Amino acid sequence: MSKTIIQVKNLYKNYGDFAAVKGISFDVLEGEIFGLLGPNGAGKSTTLEIIETLREKTSGEVTVDGLNLDDSPNEIKKIIGVQLQTSGYYPSLHLDELIVLFAGLYNEDIDPMALLDKVNLRDKAKAKFKELSGGQKQRFSIATTLINKPKIIFLDEPTTGLDPQARRNLWDLIREIRDHGTTVIITTHYMDEAEVLCDRVAIIDSGHIIALNSPDKLIDELVATGFEKPKEVKQANLEDVFINLTGHALREEKI
Ligand code: ADP
Ligand code: MG
Repeated sequence: MSKTIIQVKNLYKNYGDFAAVKGISFDVLEGEIFGLLGPNGAGKSTTLEIIETLREKTSGEVTVDGLNLDDSPNEIKKIIGVQLQTSGYYPSLHLDELIVLFAGLYNEDIDPMALLDKVNLRDKAKAKFKELSGGQKQRFSIATTLINKPKIIFLDEPTTGLDPQARRNLWDLIREIRDHGTTVIITTHYMDEAEVLCDRVAIIDSGHIIALNSPDKLIDELVATGFEKPKEVKQANLEDVFINLTGHALREEKI
């Protein structure tokens, strides 16, 4: 892991008079899981969508795998995987049919069952999207990002609203995708998730990057300032209790 695959320099985005992104710069390294963290409205989705070529920037420079965003948006589209709007999931089609349809749009020859296998949805091949649980919907959505065999995938809050088992299951899937050589950019406002999943994170607040490092280093930096938690940390938390009692297995098959 070392080569820079995405470079963002001094990126600004205004919506009318409102400045949503105010001069941010960061690099993403090939093969890492890079997190954009921040509260709602911080500018995470705006930043992602600009890199994905889906939104116009106001100013700044973006390079993806050596391709300049202004000069080569179509070449960039070919090497990135983007979660499609769920409105594109035609309600009458089954999951395997949707994959064939999307593969056709990308001009890719894909075995839908192999792709569904990858995200643990083989047994749902003949289900419709609306019949899936929240976790299954996210897994399917992630599968669609992989259709064009991208170098980089973009995941915007993939675990929001999921239960603890489904979140962990998705973390495993995201790690697997990364382990197969795909760079992952993910947004989240769950700090526990970023801490275990991301190699490096940028914390965005009101359109500014206020910190950028590995979770470990950011924590060490805070501790070095003399920061201490008010209480001694227990060896487990309530989520550990919940997982311990209910098990790691996914329950979504029941719905
Ligand atoms: P995040 O993903 O971090 O929650 P967004 O990038 O979606 O944040 O939004 C950043 C800010 O820009 C928010 O204040 C949001 O209301 C505003 N915003 C986002 N999209 C638009 C738009 N199309 N028009 C006007 N304002 C927008
Ligand atoms: Mg967002």
